[in-house]
Amino acid sequence: MMINFNDEKLGAFSQRHVRFYVKYSSFVFKVLQKPTFQKFLGWMLKKEKIAEKSVKQVHIKLLPLRKSGQGIAGKCDPSRGSIQIYPKTVRFCHMFRQKFGRKNLFVYAGSRARAALIHEILHLKYTTDETTVRELSQEYFCIFTNKQSERNLQVRCTNIMVFNAKSYEEFPPDAPVNSWDRLKPD
Ligand SMILES: [Zn+2]
Repeated sequence: MMINFNDEKLGAFSQRHVRFYVKYSSFVFKVLQKPTFQKFLGWMLKKEKIAEKSVKQVHIKLLPLRKSGQGIAGKCDPSRGSIQIYPKTVRFCHMFRQKFGRKNLFVYAGSRARAALIHEILHLKYTTDETTVRELSQEYFCIFTNKQSERNLQVRCTNIMVFNAKSYEEFPPDAPVNSWDRLKPD
């Protein structure tokens, strides 16, 4: 899985904002490259019978994307096997940090990027079936997060912020560690 950055026009942004988005994307890059997460994605691809080579490119975008007032987390072009991951805005991150602190902002940004990549990978298979993609990505995200949360309680709490509380409750937080194989997507 090739993860890289795209050239983007940053001319309209202040130095401070450029620094922020560079830092954000480097962090997301590190998070998505982590061996534990890569291993999980490998398992998910196998489970979904998606060929690993069908994920051609994962681009981590520097600048946020908004569509009808909503911040977009990711985009997928199934015919090209190309996936884009977008950051949150400076404004949002500033507000989040004031409310929940810097540490939680990192946890949130990491979880959001992981959830976005899981979601967009599933679009390679379930192209326009948004309902299925949404359901499955929540399930897969929770499986990964529950495994991680054995080590990090914060990750589990931030899960609630990424998805809604209801869907979170459908997955018991005390699921056994090696429960990856127990999920039946179909
Ligand atoms: Zn989608």
